Amino acid sequence: MSDVPRAASYADLPLEQVDPTIYRLIRKELSRQQQNIELIASENFTPVAVLQAMGSVLTNKYAEGYPRARYYGGCEVIDEVEQVAMERAKALFGAEHANVQPHSGTAANHAVYWTALQPGDRVLSMTLAHGGHLSHGLPVNFSGRGYTFFHYGVDRETGLLNMDEVFAQARKHRPRLIVVGASAYPRTLDFAAFRRVADEVGAQLMADIAHIAGLVAGGVHPSPFPHCDWVTTTTHKTLAGPRGGVCFCRASSAAELDKAVFPGLQGGPLEHVIAGKAVCFLLASTEEFKAKQRLTVENAKVLAEELMAGGLKLVSGGTDNHLLLVDFSGTEMTGRRAQELLDRVGITANKNVVPYDERPPTITSGLRLGTPAMTTRGFGPEEMREVARIIVEALTVEPSEANLNRLLARSRALTAAFPLYRGLGV
Ligand SMILES: *Cc1c(COP(=O)(O)O)cnc(C)c1O
Repeated sequence: MSDVPRAASYADLPLEQVDPTIYRLIRKELSRQQQNIELIASENFTPVAVLQAMGSVLTNKYAEGYPRARYYGGCEVIDEVEQVAMERAKALFGAEHANVQPHSGTAANHAVYWTALQPGDRVLSMTLAHGGHLSHGLPVNFSGRGYTFFHYGVDRETGLLNMDEVFAQARKHRPRLIVVGASAYPRTLDFAAFRRVADEVGAQLMADIAHIAGLVAGGVHPSPFPHCDWVTTTTHKTLAGPRGGVCFCRASSAAELDKAVFPGLQGGPLEHVIAGKAVCFLLASTEEFKAKQRLTVENAKVLAEELMAGGLKLVSGGTDNHLLLVDFSGTEMTGRRAQELLDRVGITANKNVVPYDERPPTITSGLRLGTPAMTTRGFGPEEMREVARIIVEALTVEPSEANLNRLLARSRALTAAFPLYRGLGV
């Protein structure tokens, strides 16, 4: 044995030394997240514990299959990880069966369609133009290519879902599956009413709670579980976990659903992400999380009220959940312009079509705002009022450098008061 130290291998060196480019970009993104007010309704700040699970050696393990039925050796630890994730997911929502392997919300939806439908079968879902999701039958998406989708929408006058319209569409098209769930609907979803429609036409019912899963877990939105044959969700939106998906079903469909996920649609599961999901489910069962969900909804109400007091119009005139949609139709302002102005003053949001929008999706007449991320960060009603005032001013003042810089300084003052990821290693 030589005393000469072995030349350091890159395998043992930190990212900072191995790849300064990517290290620098991660630091840059971290400071972007720290500095800006994040109002994208589908985003959140996952806890450090989840980041640790995702950045772990579990990424190395191949584990095609399911606990105690894998195609690889050495899965005894992974089996425990995935089992814990499944048990916690079921307990959190009161579900009979959970599959925690879907790589994303879209993949979870794919798995349910794959299980519940034959290619070409008829499905009824909310139109993307009124707040649905591309995996609910957009023609260029796998869902729209593989199945025959029909859509229901919201009332032009109220901006609300109208169950008579859902029922009429269901009677007309006789779908095998009805999908309830949305990406930009600011109101409570009545799962029981959807169940009645599904029963009336002999359809199965799937709830996609990608956006509201945290609210459901926190008890501030009715649960779809008593009413639905299938439930899908993401884990990274209001649940504040790792980027990923989960699907749920009754025990009688468990084997079929599991076969759809693997080997039907995916290969090896991302066990490091599944560990992150397990941590997320644990945290989502705490009182602290539930209180955050209540505050998320309260913050959205405060934001909505202040924006309306500032003269902005909201789709449906307000919100019941974590998000709201500003409606600029009939005015000079567009969604794209609003998004750009807010970016300039340190507020991140996204342009969004509003129901019956006359502008193209690249411009839009709407702006979607959500409170989950900033509520996680610690904002309460007082901060939300200030955020609303900054938004109203940004959209109405003369957009001079001086004016916008003044508003940017107010945004920065808010985020500086609520530190995020203090002392994070990367
Ligand atoms: C976000 C979302 C999804 C998809 O999630 P991805 O993880 O981005 O694939 C599915 N359905 C709805 C309603 C969503 O809002």
